Parts: sequence; C-alpha cells; structure tokens
Amino acid sequence: MNRDIFIFLGPPGSGKGSLSQRCVEKLGWQQLSTGNLCRDHIARETEIGTQIDFFIKSGKLISDSLILGMVQEWLAEKAAQGSQGSVIFDGFPRAVSQAHALHELLAEFKDMQLYPIRLVLSDEEVIYRLLARSICQNNSCQRVYSLHKQSAHQPAQEMICDECGSPLVRRFDDEETAIHERLRSHHEHEQSLLDFYHEVGQPVVELNARAPLNEVYNELITKIGHPRE
Ligand SMILES: [Zn+2]
Repeated sequence: MNRDIFIFLGPPGSGKGSLSQRCVEKLGWQQLSTGNLCRDHIARETEIGTQIDFFIKSGKLISDSLILGMVQEWLAEKAAQGSQGSVIFDGFPRAVSQAHALHELLAEFKDMQLYPIRLVLSDEEVIYRLLARSICQNNSCQRVYSLHKQSAHQPAQEMICDECGSPLVRRFDDEETAIHERLRSHHEHEQSLLDFYHEVGQPVVELNARAPLNEVYNELITKIGHPRE
C-alpha cells in the first residue's frame, strides 16, 4: 500500500488549513502537525521531548535533526500499526535544510510518494482576505470567516461562529504592515523551497487558490489523480 505525503505551500490566507481539513474529512487523510508532535513529546517526557524542551527554554530554534527524528519515528510507528492512507505535513518542512532531509528520509521509505502542493494567490488577494479575516476563538474549532459583505464565508451572526457559537477574533498580525512583512518572508521561504524541488526534479502541483474551496479541492483531486471520496 502506498502512502502519499502532502506538503501545502502557499501564502497566509490562501486556505491551506481549510483545504487540509477538507481532505481529512472527505478522504480520511491524516494530518501531522510538527508543532503538536513537539508538544506531545514534551508531555510524554520522551528523550526527544526533553531535548525539545531544552531548545525552547533556551530560546533556540529546534534543530532539524530533532524534527526529522520525530517525523521518522511517527511514520515508522504508523507503518507498524498498519495505518494506511495519505498524510499532510503541517508546519514542515520549514526550510530547505528540512526539505532536503525529508527528501533523503523518503528515499528510505520506498512506498512513499511526495506531493508538494502550491496554493497560488496574488499578494493583492492575500491582503484583501487577511484584512477581513476573523477566526473562531474556540481552540478546538478555529473556523475561519471573512467579514467582507460579499463573501460566502461571512458569519450568519456578527462576530459569532456559526459552528460552535464562540466569539470570533481578529489575529493581531492580520493588519497591513504585518501582512506585508509576512508576505515578504513567505515569498523568500517559498522561493527557496521551489528552487530546491526544481533542483531535485520534484514536480510541484499548482492550484488556483483564488477559487472557492470546493473548486480548489476538486482541482487537487484531479491533478493528483485521486479517486473522489
Ligand atoms: Zn467555532
């Protein structure tokens, strides 16, 4: 059984989170958040967890080898449990060094295929979306809304989540100066990853993220040749 590994690239507001959620719900894919994995290791006080805790407490970035070790262990565990199906990596790889290490790791797992997916959205559209974005403050919901009047993602009740009734909040960095800075850093980061994948001959699937979620989802399914549902 093959296991496909997906990496979603795209600027803030391009709908990576919503698309991941859709794939998890509709296709039963698993999502691996390296942030959650770190917290889990710390909570279980594993050897990796102790090291991560040390990095965090000394204000350093967690090393690539630690992150890779965690991801590798997770993949091996899932394989041993006979768990199948596709996995979306969330928050990883962050940098070329991690992408490179992941590439080498996947070469060891012969049955795993990597799909970098790029959600393409113009800077203008990112700014337009983020300036009106509000998020459900309930941590286990976190549904995203748009406050634009013409948007299909407006909440039914002003600043209240349709899903769970919690108040909606604006992210502090969803304001214009911060958005420009986030876009600048996104472009730099994304370009270095795209250069890397180009160099190693890894195709990148591009999706038009300006379209409604349903269409983006259908484009993904069509382009990767995955059966629907
Ligand atoms: Zn909610």
